[in-house]
Amino acid sequence: MNIPFLDLSKLDQKLKEKLKLRFAALLEEGVFSGGKEVQLLEGTFKSTLNSQFAIACANGTDALELAFRALGIGPGDEVIVPALTWVSTAEAVVMVGAKPVFWDTDEEGLLRSDWVQAVNATTKAVVPVHLYGQMADMKTLGEKARELGIFVIEDAAQAFGAKQNGKPAGTFSEVGCLSFYPTKNLGALGEAGMCLSQNKEIAEKIRLLGNHGQPIRDEHVLIGRNSRIDTVQAAFLNVMLEDFQVHQGKRKKLAQIYLEGLAEISELKLPEKILSDNHNAHLFVIQTQFRDSLKEFLASEGIGTAIHYPQILPDMDVFFQNGDFGTSRKITREALSLPLNPWLSEEDVWFIVNRIRAFFRP
Ligand SMILES: *Cc1c(COP(=O)(O)O)cnc(C)c1O
Repeated sequence: MNIPFLDLSKLDQKLKEKLKLRFAALLEEGVFSGGKEVQLLEGTFKSTLNSQFAIACANGTDALELAFRALGIGPGDEVIVPALTWVSTAEAVVMVGAKPVFWDTDEEGLLRSDWVQAVNATTKAVVPVHLYGQMADMKTLGEKARELGIFVIEDAAQAFGAKQNGKPAGTFSEVGCLSFYPTKNLGALGEAGMCLSQNKEIAEKIRLLGNHGQPIRDEHVLIGRNSRIDTVQAAFLNVMLEDFQVHQGKRKKLAQIYLEGLAEISELKLPEKILSDNHNAHLFVIQTQFRDSLKEFLASEGIGTAIHYPQILPDMDVFFQNGDFGTSRKITREALSLPLNPWLSEEDVWFIVNRIRAFFRP
């Protein structure tokens, strides 16, 4: 058996053909930046997510950085960030000159609800990360932030497609940031990202910042940068979006097999809420104190797994910070991501389930 954690060369043949055709059309058209594919992509996001504004950009990290800059966050400001997340969340804070203040997560890897204790006079924003595709409780978090007078920027890079009470991830806050890195649920064939906003002024500022401060060509009203999306990536995403719901259905079906197949193993903590709308089944993360030996065992059986993430940010030299990060740190020791993507078969997942059972009940 050989089941890699994720193998993007396995995109189904029909999808590959559609992508080739779309690329061939662009090649004939000769438009490689901006153009109607980008407009189409942004339009689709606005309508399907019911978002007032959608600004495509170069990647998810840029989306976060553009959001912070558009909100005027910079030197002297603090931003609250979960201790356990992909590095971009804190990196973008530092890139605008502000200081990330790390806070522990709960057992599911979401910002712990007592984060308000980290707020002081210099705190400008809090960044909930919808880790693994599961949304943070946005109602409570939003209410607290409003009371405190600080911004919320959602890092929804892993959560496209998740919804809380019918409202899509990324639309609960001043700015919601999405990533279309190839391994995400909606992945480009390269780098791409997006900012969502429900505020016209903020949205306009983000668009200006990501395009050299130009409202129209050769007029520069502020100092920005280039974080435009490639036309080809927008086009690929438009194609990928056609299959998105089908792929999500596949992910949920496979996640259900894992949940059923692994339910009896008391040594495992399973992502119990992965089938709810609140979760987009981006990653299937189990937790066990036997993580390292299980990972090794599965590798010897030809099954690839991943660790999201092996280290919390405040334990890294570059972000070093003291604090109470016990729960996040426990996740770095115990979490294991099992293969979950639309190109796996149900048989693949049953095979994985049976090998995990064999590990715990030899
Ligand atoms: C992927 C990811 C990002 C960054 O996205 P890129 O497109 O790779 O720059 C940011 N935050 C989280 C939580 C992510 O998983």
